Amino acid sequence: MMADNKIILKKGKEGSLDRFHPWVFSGAVNAIPDGLEEGSVVKVYAFDGRLIGTGHYQIGSIVVRILDFSDAEIDERFFMRRLDDAYALRKCLGLARPDNNAYRLVHGEGDFLPGLVVDIYGNTAVVQAHSPGMHFCRDIIASAIVGMEGLGVENVYYKSETTLPYKAHLDPQNDYIIGGFTTNVAVENGIRFYVDWLKGQKTGFFVDQRDNRSLLERFSRGRKVLNMFCYTGGFSVYAMRGGAELVHSVDSSAKAVLLTEENIGLNFPGDGRHKAYAEDAFKFLDNMETGAYDLIVLDPPAFAKHRSAIRNALRGYQRLNAKAFEKIAPGGILFTFSCSQAITREQFRLGVFSAAAQSRRKVRILHQLTQPADHPINIYHPEGEYLKGMVLYVE
Ligand code: SAH
Repeated sequence: MMADNKIILKKGKEGSLDRFHPWVFSGAVNAIPDGLEEGSVVKVYAFDGRLIGTGHYQIGSIVVRILDFSDAEIDERFFMRRLDDAYALRKCLGLARPDNNAYRLVHGEGDFLPGLVVDIYGNTAVVQAHSPGMHFCRDIIASAIVGMEGLGVENVYYKSETTLPYKAHLDPQNDYIIGGFTTNVAVENGIRFYVDWLKGQKTGFFVDQRDNRSLLERFSRGRKVLNMFCYTGGFSVYAMRGGAELVHSVDSSAKAVLLTEENIGLNFPGDGRHKAYAEDAFKFLDNMETGAYDLIVLDPPAFAKHRSAIRNALRGYQRLNAKAFEKIAPGGILFTFSCSQAITREQFRLGVFSAAAQSRRKVRILHQLTQPADHPINIYHPEGEYLKGMVLYVE
């Protein structure tokens, strides 16, 4: 490492870092050394010369993501240690089992690896870099993953075309770093899913709804289920297994509808209880008959990708939920979610509350939902909490 990879904070700007928040904002920094390359490993110092930690430098409002609050060497051994810790947690959670081989191995700051996401699907790991620093470490990360005892990963697919800062001009290619074509059926709680990491959204599958899908399964017996924004049909397959009377899945993407049908076919071939529709959610809710469903799932994409979009997003959640409250059968169960990191739990709840009031229905909260334990939240980094949901009883 070059000797001048040194970032000194302005006087009094070390407070949040002393509380282990892993981001250094541009406004807190005195000066960036000339010629410092984006993605470099840097040492961060307080104004008085005290070393704060080691991190990855990048251009933008977050200039350093701290990897370690000490003078650490960021090499293969560093990644091996962090990955081992991450895997130990997943084993302690009981997620790596013959009937469950889909889980998140690394959840960025939640696993003390800011800028890195790794999802496991059987013997394949899908690696996603969100920072230039992690992009440059991709090869050592991939070989560390393959070398992990017990993990059983043989293929590493790198998928960062849409997650790296565009201005960094890194031109990442989505491709295998290690291994190659492999069967792409993953198992989640005994249910099989095709996972398309090559063409699918994010890493190919949303492992973050696993626990919430299990909960839905327990509510499904004898119910008429509508799964809105179904994507790969995760909630739909669980509802089928839970004994639903019928399950209708809706997504505006024809490809998602196809994936849902494939996943239903994989687990319940020829079962006539399921139908899928490629339609806009708002239109479908407007046109559907009142009382047609008594279990509705609303799991839309993030309506607010940035803080600036919060007001519009809240209006969107309110409008969507109002339509469900208006049409759901009496005694109905509504699973409603927001995966927008910028929307707080309170804001989301207020939006759903307004929608409920608008419908004048009697509504009670049965469960408050969040992301599962393989998406841990670093207590010093509350921004890591993004998924919120509620299960509501609608009379
Ligand atoms: N519930 C899913 C994840 C949903 S992701 C799971 O458990 O895996 C969000 C989905 O919403 C995407 O598949 C996207 O195609 C779909 N979508 C986005 N806008 C939509 C709209 N207006 N109407 C219907 N579907 C929409």
